[in-house]
Amino acid sequence: MKSIDLRSDTVTLPTTLMREAMCEAEVGDDVFGEDPTINRFEQMAAERVGKEAALFVASGTMGNLVCSLTHCARGEEVILGDKSHMFLNEAGGMSALGGIHPHTVANQPDGTMRLADIEGAIRGSNLHYPRTRLICLENTHNSCNGSVLSVEYIDSVAAVAKRHGLWLHLDGARIFNAAVALGVDVKELTGSVDSVSFCLSKGLSAPVGSAVCGSSDFIAEARRNRKVLGGGMRQAGIIAAAGIVAMEQMVERLKEDHANARRLAEGIDQIEGLSIDVAASKTNIIYFDLISDRIDIESFVKQLEKKGIRLLHIGGPRRCRVVTHYGIEAEDIDVTLKALKEVIEES
Ligand SMILES: *Cc1c(COP(=O)(O)O)cnc(C)c1O
Repeated sequence: MKSIDLRSDTVTLPTTLMREAMCEAEVGDDVFGEDPTINRFEQMAAERVGKEAALFVASGTMGNLVCSLTHCARGEEVILGDKSHMFLNEAGGMSALGGIHPHTVANQPDGTMRLADIEGAIRGSNLHYPRTRLICLENTHNSCNGSVLSVEYIDSVAAVAKRHGLWLHLDGARIFNAAVALGVDVKELTGSVDSVSFCLSKGLSAPVGSAVCGSSDFIAEARRNRKVLGGGMRQAGIIAAAGIVAMEQMVERLKEDHANARRLAEGIDQIEGLSIDVAASKTNIIYFDLISDRIDIESFVKQLEKKGIRLLHIGGPRRCRVVTHYGIEAEDIDVTLKALKEVIEES
């Protein structure tokens, strides 16, 4: 029985082309700036999102932290969504290591924060207040149904940031999913932000790594902060080689993941005992609720696992998350829907 692992797109395995590229990568000491594969990767990443420069980092968490540390000094404040990955799932790194103060604003179900709420959170000049320095957005929005922020919305937040003299950072762990879902060039989604991070090791299937992109001055300082965090790596081109293949080969196919997720959402909608917002299912992350009272959530997840289907109980007392990705085929969606139905019927 094939295991259908829908817990996350981080379970994706490197492709044959990636393994070959890793095997053949020309490398050097990147701390001396002498790894040709890293240099090629960073140039490619910067061009891809329309920024002057880029930095290879070990993970999305490190990328976001490096950006926070580069934008903000100790005691300064970041405005970010109350359901954002940076606030919820990065171990409080900005506070723990940067002395940076997070100021949360409500995320709407579509992953946005209301402009009025953002403006309301910006501090005036007052001895008692921390100084606001940075606003963060997330696209696609992991815990808001993998929702997509539009170009217009991002630009409108950038205008607010500019008016108040603040920086704007985009946690673009899945920015290519957003671009593919909207049918726009990723540059349109990153044009008005000061910094962006994106993951290679999720839907793009590379084994390790993320990129941080911004102006040359920003990246020079970010490089220093990466070093502070212990992220200065030597022959890192070995892993960045897979990242190059990820950017070249794995972006367009993300629409297959979105189509699979959509079909899964439509199927779940037809199953009695499950509840889902199909319209909100626009990329590769979907959430649904178990509303059948015949089975508790722990047994539900366990019974599915016995049938070879893995998903996460996350986001609510009876809520599950399903993520489609490279390696999940259309027929796996049929198998999953059948198993979901059976588990409820058998309980
Ligand atoms: C996964 C993720 C990150 C962090 O990436 P890691 O590589 O797991 O550290 C950041 N933001 C979002 C929205 C993510 O989904």
